[in-house]
Amino acid sequence: MTISPSIMTTYGRIDIAFTHGEGSYLYSEDGKKYLDYASGIAVNAFGHCHPKLVEALKDQASKLWHISNLYRIPEQETVAEKLVENSCADRVFFCNSGAEATEGAVKVARRFAWANGEKDRTEIICATGAFHGRTLAMLAANDRPLFREGFGPSAQGFTHVEWGDIESLKNKIGKHVAAILVEPVQGEGGARKAPRGYLKLLQDISAENGSLLISDEVQIGMGRSGTLFAYQQENIEPDIVALAKGLGGGFPVGAVMAKAKVGDAMIPGTHGSTFGGNPLAMRSANAVLDLLLEDDFLKSLRENITYFDNKMDALINDDDKVSPVILCKKGSGMLRGFHLTEKFAAGDFGNISREKGLLLVGAAENTIRLLPPLNTSKEEIDHAFEILSEVVKEIKKN
Ligand SMILES: *Cc1c(COP(=O)(O)O)cnc(C)c1O
Repeated sequence: MTISPSIMTTYGRIDIAFTHGEGSYLYSEDGKKYLDYASGIAVNAFGHCHPKLVEALKDQASKLWHISNLYRIPEQETVAEKLVENSCADRVFFCNSGAEATEGAVKVARRFAWANGEKDRTEIICATGAFHGRTLAMLAANDRPLFREGFGPSAQGFTHVEWGDIESLKNKIGKHVAAILVEPVQGEGGARKAPRGYLKLLQDISAENGSLLISDEVQIGMGRSGTLFAYQQENIEPDIVALAKGLGGGFPVGAVMAKAKVGDAMIPGTHGSTFGGNPLAMRSANAVLDLLLEDDFLKSLRENITYFDNKMDALINDDDKVSPVILCKKGSGMLRGFHLTEKFAAGDFGNISREKGLLLVGAAENTIRLLPPLNTSKEEIDHAFEILSEVVKEIKKN
């Protein structure tokens, strides 16, 4: 089957269509079963068709879908309160995607400076390897020159520093800087975890300079790091946090969370979204939050993360020492990756793995990314690593 020409050709799609999913597994039209460790790119935080999510959506679907932000939305207030209660933030704005969350975060940061009378404080410092989304402004925030090609003038006010390098930041910081925008663990950039202490230094330097720190947790947030938010592991309190992917567990939901004094710069009329935070979206996010905050869920997730990490070590240990396939493991929590040696392409690795029934995602730096659902079981992890071990053996033959 070829893909319909009616679809705009923005993606290099794999020619598989799925009919249904259950837990960590997906079933394709031709009857094959796949262990889904791509999770719709870190979106299906609780796998496919989790009963609690299905129940919440079914219930809401028969009551009220959408009413717009012209009115109060109690479901939104519930989710915002849960997010605030469990984070360093005090205010939440809801949108529908990651790019809207990161771009919204930038708007909040700039508006805060402006409201404080600092009209020239507009610059946003980003890191090399960064990915923040595909809107016109976020194209300038990304460290992906190719993504900008052919799309006209770049948005002004974005600059990049070397990821993990404080000296590089010190050279760029100044009174013109509204915020530092950073992913605690870069996803698309190749499952790259910030060096320990880096985020704390970013926070201290930005605070000293009167700038804000924005944590882009669109991919690593909502439990994927092993804590509800990734910044919590570094003992910092960002001024703004961007959320999306896992937040709705498969329903499109994004959020910008901010400290009170920052969020309060957004007075009525300064920002908005027609769909953002509608009742259907909020019931999904509420169900995801309830599952994440259930007694011991995060604790057992952290046990599984350790289990997963040990499996990664064992796979590397079993790899050929003379001509290895894997260079090293990368990432953190349940946003992991294997950096492959130059001889082996991550794309080929992903194709072989898929043929063997395990779905993975590529990333920059010749990295194959593993994004399991957060509720995956030890048995499923064992199954995944059995397949991975076969893939490592087979890729050498090609
Ligand atoms: C995916 C991603 C985005 C963009 O999200 P979209 O929903 O595709 O707009 C932004 N930031 C990070 C860190 C991401 O992983």
